[in-house]
Amino acid sequence: MKRESKSKLKPEPEHPPDPKFRKCLKCGRRFMSEHIGERICPKCKGRRDWREMA
Ligand SMILES: [Zn+2]
Repeated sequence: MKRESKSKLKPEPEHPPDPKFRKCLKCGRRFMSEHIGERICPKCKGRRDWREMA
């Protein structure tokens, strides 16, 4: 029953939640990733040099 109301609110998520340990693409360390699209550990993300190229 929950499914019906939810699918109307949001389109399907691009990356379904799948929390597990993954290797960071930047530093190679393992970190807790929320989903398969999350490949950069919070530390490297915080460095602002991976997405802010402008
Ligand atoms: Zn990293």
